[in-house]
Amino acid sequence: MSGQREQLDLPKGERPVSKTDNSRLPLTADRSRCLVIQTAFLGDVVLTTPLLSLLAGRHGPVDVVTTPAAAALLETHPAVRSVIRYDKHGPERGWRGIRRVVAELRARRYATVYLPHRSVRSAALAMLSGAPERIGFADSAAAMTYTRRVQRPREGHEVERLLTLAGSSAETPRVTLGLTPSDYAAADEWLARHGMGSRFIALAPGSIWGTKRWPYYAELAARLDRPCVVIGGADDQPLAEAIVTAAPGRAVSAAGQLSLRVSAAIIGRAVLLVTNDSAPLHLATAVGTPVVAIFGPTVPAFGFGPRRAGDVTLGWNGLACRPCSKHGPPVCPLGHHRCMRDLSVETVAAALAAITSSEESGAICPRN
Ligand code: SF4
Repeated sequence: MSGQREQLDLPKGERPVSKTDNSRLPLTADRSRCLVIQTAFLGDVVLTTPLLSLLAGRHGPVDVVTTPAAAALLETHPAVRSVIRYDKHGPERGWRGIRRVVAELRARRYATVYLPHRSVRSAALAMLSGAPERIGFADSAAAMTYTRRVQRPREGHEVERLLTLAGSSAETPRVTLGLTPSDYAAADEWLARHGMGSRFIALAPGSIWGTKRWPYYAELAARLDRPCVVIGGADDQPLAEAIVTAAPGRAVSAAGQLSLRVSAAIIGRAVLLVTNDSAPLHLATAVGTPVVAIFGPTVPAFGFGPRRAGDVTLGWNGLACRPCSKHGPPVCPLGHHRCMRDLSVETVAAALAAITSSEESGAICPRN
């Protein structure tokens, strides 16, 4: 789950059980069905859960087209009735995949499709699905194919921006996950097996974008006086091993070992999470774990910052080059990567200490 690599590799041989086996779904002429197409990165999918909850409150649980990685999260979510997996970058790349998904959507005869994801591919799925109502953002690449175009707010958190697709509402549902008792049981078993008590700190050092990775997680772990669990996907294992080496006997790695939901459950058991601007930040928001979020080439004003009172956001505000891109480039275009390299271990450790002391004194709000 390297941040917005958006994917945690499942253990070998393990396949998440689908909430619905699509091949067994009865075809229906029920035009009241609602579909949401969200095939963006995992963090974006997590931040779409308030929209799913709002729509489910109005229409009943909704169907969602999403990526295989995000499907594992949504298939147990109470606002979701059915998950339609679409591996747009894998075997279903190209028109063959689009045709397969469209055939499934047409059979389900949706009345309304919501499009938080602004791609042409998503618009094509919606239009070809036959749904008479297609609601998306006016600045989307294929907005002309929508039947209702919503002005995307230029400011505010992504959660509120996505909720505007559903029209006016007095409520803002929380970011949530559908973690099950067995997810928490698996997390607790893993933590017990690795000798982790209740006072550990979770570290999520990864991100698919190189410049979004703060380079000093190992140094931070070395100076902490608490046990640490490193969260991430298989690609994050080298980062995790460096942290474990720096804090022998106190740090253990879960990178690449656990499913996405079990990893989220482990974050839920942590005292706090230290993370980059990446998907684990939003998982922590969902499970109510305090966050120290480190921003480099991106800024919270983009709309993807923490939402929980008491969370801390760190970033180097004095740099004229920052922010330099929407997602963060693979390498620093100026070569120095000062947005991250100048953010010291001492600064992050101080933020961490402030949160842990506030948590222990009860000075910040309780968890969800
Ligand atoms: S250009 Fe500036 S903001 Fe972008 S990666 Fe480099 S140091 Fe960071």
